[in-house]
Amino acid sequence: MDPSDNNPSSHQSLPYITSNNPLQFTIHLPNSTPNFTSIPNSNPSHDPNPNPNPHSDSISDQLLSLSIPTKRRRGRPRSTTTSSLDQFSKTLVENSNLVRNLTARKNTASFDASDEIIVINKEATTEALIALTAGFPADSLTDEEIEAEVVSVVGGIEQVNYILIRNHILMKWRVNVSTWITKEMFFDVIPKHCNALLDSAHNYLVSRGYINFGVVPAIKDRIPAEPSKPSVIIIGAGLAGLAAARQLMLFGFKVTVLEGRKRAGGRVYSKKMEGGNKVAAADLGGSVLTGTLGNPLGILARQLSCTLHKVRDKCPLYRVDGKPVDQDLDHKVETAYNLLLEKASKLRQLMGEVSQDVSLGAALETFRQDYEDAVNEEEMSLFNWHLANLEYANAGLISKLSLAFWDQDDPFDMGGDHCFLPGGNGKLVHALTENVPILYEKIVHTIRYGTDGVQVGAGAQVFEGDMVLCTVPLGVLKGGSIKFMPELPQRKLDGIKRLGFGLLNKG
Ligand SMILES: Cc1cc2nc3c(=O)[nH]c(=O)nc-3n(C[C@H](O)[C@H](O)[C@H](O)COP(=O)(O)OP(=O)(O)OC[C@H]3O[C@@H](n4cnc5c(N)ncnc54)[C@H](O)[C@@H]3O)c2cc1C
Repeated sequence: MDPSDNNPSSHQSLPYITSNNPLQFTIHLPNSTPNFTSIPNSNPSHDPNPNPNPHSDSISDQLLSLSIPTKRRRGRPRSTTTSSLDQFSKTLVENSNLVRNLTARKNTASFDASDEIIVINKEATTEALIALTAGFPADSLTDEEIEAEVVSVVGGIEQVNYILIRNHILMKWRVNVSTWITKEMFFDVIPKHCNALLDSAHNYLVSRGYINFGVVPAIKDRIPAEPSKPSVIIIGAGLAGLAAARQLMLFGFKVTVLEGRKRAGGRVYSKKMEGGNKVAAADLGGSVLTGTLGNPLGILARQLSCTLHKVRDKCPLYRVDGKPVDQDLDHKVETAYNLLLEKASKLRQLMGEVSQDVSLGAALETFRQDYEDAVNEEEMSLFNWHLANLEYANAGLISKLSLAFWDQDDPFDMGGDHCFLPGGNGKLVHALTENVPILYEKIVHTIRYGTDGVQVGAGAQVFEGDMVLCTVPLGVLKGGSIKFMPELPQRKLDGIKRLGFGLLNKG
């Protein structure tokens, strides 16, 4: 099997986009006929260059990369995000009818502009797709947005307008992530009566770090020289701690990072190797940017003008004797494997809540028995490779994976190519640490917290602050080497206990 083929059937439920002309492309949704939605670009001179790879220079190039099948990496049938996009397209069609009706009413005395669904440009579906990759549902608000009360009434026209504006702002920043996006930049395209929604969407996106973040001068120059907000002690200088530190500094907080080791980066560490006049780097920890579209690391790489190296789509398999597996056989077994996953998925739907008590392994085993007698040893061994790959991708035995929830993180997958950063991810760590006050070799053992602030103990030292942000790995929390005083709330303790993780090491 060659996963790089462009056969829609091999893409399962990922949306994919085809194009002959980079300025005109078509989104094909799974389970829909091709040419579902055609999105002609309204502005042919527009060259947004939002791609993390500077050599790939159009938005459609970037969206095209959604077509890469991920079966070899994670064999999963998926549906959530696409049905959301499907719904959004429907909403847009309904909206355009609504707009027509409202336009007819414009001259009547009862016309109220706030009843109208705005038209920002003709790229609403493209912008929805970008929003989707950034983690927003295409046609609705996130729970976080609802909680932040971004609109006065959930549902209805105000919400549709908010989503259109939010998606447009996201798109505008992703076109050029080296800039600082202000509200004023949208005054010419967003109707005046929607100023409050523009405020709301812009504030939400900036305050939650969806736009205007990173390591370029336009952004880091805005870090106030004198912090005006309370002090935050951040524990851990991994990517989570560093990203939080930069963002809090940008918002004006006084930040101190306490890191247990002698270096920053945590589970990301690029080892430099030199010899014979050659220099190379190997990532001993996190290496692949698993989808560059919604991935903040993809944005950092673009800001640093790093040319990303796409992970090859081809993943040829080899037999134990070192010879490549016959392609037809490979294809046949992979098809059977995908079919099994689909059957398991259907079974889950049929079982409803009962599926929570069944493991994915048990479900697959039931179906596998149907095949067992019909296959030879090589086919079985290939099939087992797929199961092993599934276990690797999920960091757990399939017998321990829940049939109901094993793929619950799929909606959060970041679209786009899987890439390496030549020279190693240490470049990202290096950029993130710039001007961040980090104290190394401070292994935290105690966190006292209360209404009058926090005290963080590391060795014989005690650091005082207004707040503490703890970014240590789950394993450290499970191990209990940090004492929280008072003890963490029960729901957090339960979460720490219940959550598991697998082991991934690189020799
Ligand atoms: C081998 C390997 C390969 C991986 N490959 C990929 C990949 O290809 N793609 C991908 O996206 N992800 C990959 N990951 C996962 C990714 O590296 C992590 O998800 C990510 O780096 C976690 O960042 P973090 O900041 O949350 O935690 P960490 O990086 O673990 O940072 C936590 C920091 O806290 C510090 N700390 C811990 N305890 C204390 C204490 N008591 N006091 C003070 N400091 C403390 C640690 O030293 C560390 O610096 C891989 C991970 C590993 C191990």
